[in-house]
Amino acid sequence: MTQDAIRIDGLVKTYRGAKGEPEKTALKGVDLAIPRGSVFGLLGPNGAGKSTLINILAGLVTKTSGKVQIWGFDQDVNPRQSRAAIGVMPQELNLDPFFSPRGALEVQAGLYGVPRAQRRSDEILALVGLSDKAGAYARTLSGGMRRRLLLAKALVHRPNVLVLDEPTAGVDIELRQMLWANVRKLNDEGMTIILTTHYLEEAEEMCDEIAIINHGAVVARDSTQNLLSRMDAKTLVVHPAYPVADVPVGDGVEGQLRPDGTLALTYRRGCITAEGVLDLVRGAGITIRDLRSEEPDLEDVFLALTSSRGSRPT
Ligand code: ADP
Ligand code: MG
Repeated sequence: MTQDAIRIDGLVKTYRGAKGEPEKTALKGVDLAIPRGSVFGLLGPNGAGKSTLINILAGLVTKTSGKVQIWGFDQDVNPRQSRAAIGVMPQELNLDPFFSPRGALEVQAGLYGVPRAQRRSDEILALVGLSDKAGAYARTLSGGMRRRLLLAKALVHRPNVLVLDEPTAGVDIELRQMLWANVRKLNDEGMTIILTTHYLEEAEEMCDEIAIINHGAVVARDSTQNLLSRMDAKTLVVHPAYPVADVPVGDGVEGQLRPDGTLALTYRRGCITAEGVLDLVRGAGITIRDLRSEEPDLEDVFLALTSSRGSRPT
């Protein structure tokens, strides 16, 4: 048995297109191992394939090919054990409107074969702050309360691995704090946590390790600390006095000509200073009319990370 919480090998997912639409390969052969006990971040822009990956782990989406092991159990060989090891809080707010939170948890416990004596619906409702709403109809719950209930449902069978798909997208501060407090508490108690986000800051704050996924492929995977030092990138945007034909090149600098005619130079502060970047620009015969700096966004980070390895994974 492996010591990984999750192990994914060569995972491919191709969605069949709707009528007249081409098919879409959302995961292009993903390999990923997630250690037990970690808070692991799956970071990537919209459409990167995060939910597809999560939903395959959860058994909600059927993979096209590849191998998935959860807590050492192969999804295809031991479907029951692998499913029992994981709880997923999905991105979509899909709840049965006819159940109260307590009722929904009881149904979920039944689905996972949790014996009555071992159920702890009230304890879980208290954990997510839904005790006062335990008996209310789900359709009377606010969006935030529904999210709390989805988290509660994911916890009913005491999974070894808890997966949260974009838990904080569009939620208020109070709910965000509740989520993070619970993530830390559950992780301290030994639960492995995987969360997806498209916010770099969130991943930085919460995660021990991060995989960056883009266009269905993992483009970087490292400890948060290592990744941050590799992401030590900044961008200088140069407005040239005259149109620029060639982008200056230099170590630790990635230049890009933008459609508005400006020149964006993303550089790694560990490699080169801003002054060095400007020397490079002047050295290329470019007259600088104006200049501003930008903090990196995910796009720049992808660029810096992929270019620093010499080749770009596809
Ligand atoms: P993310 O969660 O990172 O935003 P998704 O996994 O939701 O990404 O989507 C990855 C890609 O797969 C996107 O291009 C999306 O349009 C496509 N996709 C997702 N779900 C389906 C589906 N059910 N049918 C067809 N295409 C899908
Ligand atoms: Mg998603």
